[in-house]
Amino acid sequence: MSKNIQAIRGMNDCLPDQTVQWQFVEDTIHQLVSSYGYREIRTPIVESTDLFKRSIGEVTDIVEKEMYTFDDHGDSLTLRPEGTACTVRAGIEHGLLYNQQQRLWYMGPMFRHERPQKGRYRQFHQFGVETYGLSGPDIDAELIRMTARLWKMLGMSEHVLLEINSLGSNEARTAYKETLVNYLRAHKESLDEDSLRRLESNPLRVLDSKNPDVQAVVANAPMLIDHLDEDSALHFNQLRERLDAFGIQYRINPSLVRGLDYYNRTVFEWVTESLGAQGTVCAGGRYDGLVQQLGGKATPAVGFALGLERLILMLQELDLMGNATSNIDVYVCALGDAAELFSVEVAERLRDKLPHLKVMNHCGGGNFKKQMKRADASGAAITLIIGDSEAETNQVTVKAMREQKEQQSMSIEQLIATLSNKQ
Ligand code: ATP
Ligand code: MG
Repeated sequence: MSKNIQAIRGMNDCLPDQTVQWQFVEDTIHQLVSSYGYREIRTPIVESTDLFKRSIGEVTDIVEKEMYTFDDHGDSLTLRPEGTACTVRAGIEHGLLYNQQQRLWYMGPMFRHERPQKGRYRQFHQFGVETYGLSGPDIDAELIRMTARLWKMLGMSEHVLLEINSLGSNEARTAYKETLVNYLRAHKESLDEDSLRRLESNPLRVLDSKNPDVQAVVANAPMLIDHLDEDSALHFNQLRERLDAFGIQYRINPSLVRGLDYYNRTVFEWVTESLGAQGTVCAGGRYDGLVQQLGGKATPAVGFALGLERLILMLQELDLMGNATSNIDVYVCALGDAAELFSVEVAERLRDKLPHLKVMNHCGGGNFKKQMKRADASGAAITLIIGDSEAETNQVTVKAMREQKEQQSMSIEQLIATLSNKQ
């Protein structure tokens, strides 16, 4: 007998018990973005490999080792590892960015060939926001406020911490790189192989090494935040003033440089201690150079991306999934032929009048005891019990499943009235 075929490592099925939780989070996100007036953009999952090489940067973890790249009859294509480059590509291609302001969002799967572990997968999902044509700190602050509101909506504000930093202008960063390289060369003996390689190719990335020996060297390195150009320093201070005014707490983390090459000025991450090693839930920053770099007209841009798996893991661990456990509000049991027909009529009437109510008819027969077991397992708050006598008198018997309450008999009209009061 042949072996069963299994899902690819690091690419997860999302089973019905989990999809309710995903939908709860997705619904909350839809509510969030619409309350800020942002519009959705959807781009293909596959793009030209060059798009990511040219935007994310050749010497980054993603491009060096994490991309799913394949040959498509002579074209090199890649499963998208992130959404920013795709959004910029689409924006330029369709003229959305030219002399315009855009506030966009997306949600969907991303692919990176990483070592699968808790909070790190090969197919994972991001919700992201990208804005174009706005250069001031007001929009940076809006994005941070938006994410802070999401934590509040999900009840997890006290479990995340905001870290911010500024990467300055390209010129300031180039000058700083030289200072940094000189310092790191003087401490070569404490650097690991990865950092030595990056020292030559992308020295800023040494700053976010996870190796404790390297971190010790980095702790005393000259910091970019102390070498900012005047405009970037002002931008950063104005961002801080806005965060202070809104009561959003943050920590300045001078070694926060982000793993992608295209960032300048503001960068930020929301981190948590609830997830062990995979502590970053949401990350973003300004990337004023990218649109031009990909062939468009120079356009300021700032955005963020949030990892949905990490967010959902956090909500589960903090026991904050709330009501996102049941798909069913009302379970309808019926015993007897006339009762079955009547029970379907009742359910359809409920769906007509109360479209948000989730109603399930029992199927497959069996006595009431068996049917009640199913009703209980469904998670419904209310079960309707319908026998032939109810069918005859046009009544339903209503049983509350999650509270101590007498069963009640009522007409469909009374039932609709009772349920609409509860909604
Ligand atoms: P990390 O340092 O954890 O590898 P990153 O800097 O590569 O993260 P970004 O490219 O900034 O991550 O992506 C934004 C967010 O997407 C991350 O903060 C995280 O929540 C999520 N994310 C990134 N890679 C993965 C992955 N392989 N599996 C699950 N979530 C991920
Ligand atoms: Mg990564």
